[in-house]
Amino acid sequence: MPRPTYSIVAPAYNEEETLPEFYRHVREVMDGLGEPWELILVNDGSTDNTGEVMRQLHEQDPRVRIVEFARNFGHQIAITAGMDHASGDAVVTIDCDLQDPPEVIPDLIERWKEGYQVVYGVRAEREGETWFKLFTARLFYRLIAALTDVEIPMEAGDFRLLDRQVVEELRRMRERRRFIRGMTAWVGYRQIGVPYVRHPRFAGETKYPFRKMFRLALDAITGFSDFPLRLAWLCGAVMLGLGLLLGIVLLGLRLAGTSPLAGQGLMLTVALLLAGVQLIFVGILGEYLARIYDEVRGRPLYTVHRRIGFDEEM
Ligand code: UDP
Ligand code: MG
Repeated sequence: MPRPTYSIVAPAYNEEETLPEFYRHVREVMDGLGEPWELILVNDGSTDNTGEVMRQLHEQDPRVRIVEFARNFGHQIAITAGMDHASGDAVVTIDCDLQDPPEVIPDLIERWKEGYQVVYGVRAEREGETWFKLFTARLFYRLIAALTDVEIPMEAGDFRLLDRQVVEELRRMRERRRFIRGMTAWVGYRQIGVPYVRHPRFAGETKYPFRKMFRLALDAITGFSDFPLRLAWLCGAVMLGLGLLLGIVLLGLRLAGTSPLAGQGLMLTVALLLAGVQLIFVGILGEYLARIYDEVRGRPLYTVHRRIGFDEEM
């Protein structure tokens, strides 16, 4: 098989309804470019008919290749597996629910041909999202920008084109708690954003409930900032200062013959406050520790049940 110029990588978790339409769009757009391409579908442990739908697409069109996980590993790992298996000179990662329109891919490619090695989609508009999703997403981007040490573009998701050189660099980063947006910003190279309108989902519902978004946010912060760890210094210093001040004031009042602060209520309040602050920092330590433990075990990022449509040596 000749090496394709373009690899389109799409993760899918229970996407039986969206995949055929997604494939049609991709084929239409990519055939229009007149250069060889492949579509790598990563089946992230779907429990519906997604696997069968993928195999039918591969039967129709051998340029559709399938990586089938042995269970659900999550969106970021699925994208990683797709990049591991992609052989194109440029690799485009895109969701398969048609929220990121395949019609924008030629715009990304145009920028790549101008010499940019990372071209990421910027959501100029988001149609059909709940106010809660928009609000938490905005909060998330702000928090990340404030806390992390790398410049992660605002309003950019995981719809992007990567040059082969960047893909190779990313493939060397085997961290388990992956925030690919951050990793892509970290590697450097010439990067540029392309605005696009993010559509509502074609069918089905989001596979990213609040719980998963929260976890992604934690991975993003712990993966790219140690500020939360250092926050304990600041908090400790402030509390120590307040404590000393209070001590001096109380001593002065005692020497002057009055002692206004004798209440048990006050003691209880201070004790709870201190315990709370301390436990929060133990929790923050725990978040980092759990991630260190996760890395140290050195398990593989994912397990593959089967691959379909790749050359032997994969
Ligand atoms: N996805 C996945 N594994 C998961 C969750 C999601 O591969 O555990 C895929 C999903 O099929 C879709 C993409 O990741 O192609 C983005 O998910 P979704 O559209 O549900 O997220 P949203 O766009 O609502 O943030
Ligand atoms: Mg989506």
